[in-house]
Amino acid sequence: MKLLFVYILFLSTLLYSQPNEDADSTAYYSSLSHSYVQNDNYKEALSNTQKAIQYAIKNNNIKDQAVENYNLGKLYYDLRKYNDAIEYFIKSSSLIAMQEPAVIQADTYFNLGLCYMAKENFDRAAMYFQKSKSIYKLLKIPDTTELFELQKGLIYKGQNKLDLALSVFKTIIAIPTTPALTDTKTEALYQTGSIEALKNRNNLALNYLDKALELNSKSENLEQKASILLALSTVHEKMLDKNNAYSYLKQHLNLKERLAIINNERLGIDDYTKFKESERLKEIVQTNNETKEQERVSKFSKLISILAIALISILSLLSLSLYKNNIIRNQSNLLLKEKNKELEVAKDKAEKASKARSEFLSTVSHELRTPLNAINGITHLLLEENPKKTQMDYLSSLKFSGDYLTKFINEILEINKIESHSVEIEYITFNLKQLLVGIQNSLKELALVNNNNFRLDVDAAIPDYLIGDPTKLSQIILNLINNALKFTKNGDVTVTANLHVLEDTAATLYFEIRDTGIGIPEDKLTSVFDSFSQGSIEVNRKYGGTGLGLTIVKKLIKILGGRIELTSIVGQGSSFSFKLGFKISELPVEFKTAKKIDYDSKLVNKKILLVEDNKINQMITKKMLHNKQIICEVIDNGEDAIDLVRKNKFDLVLMDVHLPGINGTIATELIRTFDAATPIIALTAISLHENRDMLLSFGMNDVITKPFIPEEFYTTIAEYI
Ligand code: ADP
Repeated sequence: MKLLFVYILFLSTLLYSQPNEDADSTAYYSSLSHSYVQNDNYKEALSNTQKAIQYAIKNNNIKDQAVENYNLGKLYYDLRKYNDAIEYFIKSSSLIAMQEPAVIQADTYFNLGLCYMAKENFDRAAMYFQKSKSIYKLLKIPDTTELFELQKGLIYKGQNKLDLALSVFKTIIAIPTTPALTDTKTEALYQTGSIEALKNRNNLALNYLDKALELNSKSENLEQKASILLALSTVHEKMLDKNNAYSYLKQHLNLKERLAIINNERLGIDDYTKFKESERLKEIVQTNNETKEQERVSKFSKLISILAIALISILSLLSLSLYKNNIIRNQSNLLLKEKNKELEVAKDKAEKASKARSEFLSTVSHELRTPLNAINGITHLLLEENPKKTQMDYLSSLKFSGDYLTKFINEILEINKIESHSVEIEYITFNLKQLLVGIQNSLKELALVNNNNFRLDVDAAIPDYLIGDPTKLSQIILNLINNALKFTKNGDVTVTANLHVLEDTAATLYFEIRDTGIGIPEDKLTSVFDSFSQGSIEVNRKYGGTGLGLTIVKKLIKILGGRIELTSIVGQGSSFSFKLGFKISELPVEFKTAKKIDYDSKLVNKKILLVEDNKINQMITKKMLHNKQIICEVIDNGEDAIDLVRKNKFDLVLMDVHLPGINGTIATELIRTFDAATPIIALTAISLHENRDMLLSFGMNDVITKPFIPEEFYTTIAEYI
């Protein structure tokens, strides 16, 4: 960085220390021209002054241009080329007009006056002398009065106002002679002599002319001398003095010859023509260059204009398209917003409808369960009281219908729960082999009904303990085996569990339930998983069923992260398979096997408090308890139940959840404040908002769901007594 700065400094020093070549060139050629004038070489003087002008133009130096044009005018004046001189003096004066008043301006006007005098244009000459005089006056330049007076006299003379001219010249003659005035005074004497000669006052004329010749000898003004000599010759001729006339004429001619030689030496006619031609050529080249430059500039500006127009057009088009785009975007935004609102409303509606449907199903099934409990309970009681043979058939049908309805309601509730996302996945350690053996044992009797060969094939490589949701897995497998056993006669039903992928801490298992039953037609392979869908009416008539089992299975597998696959050939059998992932547990757990409890003897004479508000349920439950010789006290509300438990000792409390006043959960919570020991079992037709864990959290020991399955009812009670 520092190095760069030093370099820049060095460059700039170089730049400014360079001599201004062009400026120096003007002065150089100007001084060269002056020296050529001294040597009477006007040809070189002219060309060098021209060069000086070129450099002044190049430098855009107005003052130098004015001075050099003036110098050129002077050269032409000396060469008596008055038209050329006038041209350059006028150029100079127009350039000077841009500047402050200066001596050169006055000099230019004065010389213009002289030129017009030579061309005998006295009016114009008078005008320029006047201009020059006023500038000299302004600049307070001394010793100029006589110069102008002389010109005034000459103008009068030229205008043939001889008397006026005489008086002007005589005034000049009267002024004492000084070196500066010598030329002027000599001219005044010569002019006076000439006028006197014109007026034929020859002696007077000779007097003035002699004085003029005498004074002229002090200066080098040869032109003036030649004029005086000629005038003297003329006057002497008039006075018939032939000798003097001849002598002066000869002197005059000699002088003229010399002057002609000098003039010719200064600039010959050929040189002048050549010079003028080259000057014209230069002018043509310059104007040509200027025209070319102008053309270039105009071409460039045309190009710029075209580009500007193109740019403006593009920008306008761009703005227009942006504007249009903006409008379109705004419109689509509005449309999208409206659609979004509509969608939100539709979504709200759908959510509300789905919620209402769930609530409705939950309420209906819950309300159905209570009377169903009465039907199932009374059927059970009647069947236990040794009915007659004819009554037996009716009661069996009643039991079948009750069981079907119970299953149906339970399945609807299950689907409802899954669809309203109320189902939670459990992650507990379980032993898969034990779980499958348990399922096989519980279905052995069903396999015998259709004379099926029921086989279990479990891969030995499957880790012993897995973490997952055994309840849902059992529900899935039970459902599928149930169907397989139901739709197969005299065939094989095989349950396979294979290890599909084994990782460090996880395993993916492959399950398959295969049968050799009736099979499913190809066009039904997907629809069998829809709610209430069954293979055919005939199948329904022959095999029964709700058409909800596979719907639940499919949904449960999906919740657990798998996907059910079905392959089937009518008449050959079906295969339902799925894969599920489990974490591998290192801690073994003891698998709870459902032990068959001999509850009959255990229940005798036990004291149970039944908290139930529904009269029919009271009657049925009481009867069921009495059948096992249990002493039962019934109360229909929570508050009194708390009182009773506080005052009496019960072996167990059966607590209905939905009670008038405080409900069963609150009552349990309050009992637990003073009695932690007495087992309390909830009786509930579990609804959407209740679940086992929630009920246990209030201090209940277990849950019996309504409608009761008598076997389960007694087993659960016996377990806690
Ligand atoms: P269902 O209560 O009628 O069995 P599912 O949803 O469990 O209801 O089954 C729906 C239908 O699928 C059945 O009605 C039956 O037609 C067909 N199906 C299910 N499992 C099998 C199977 N293993 N073999 C033949 N058909 C089956």
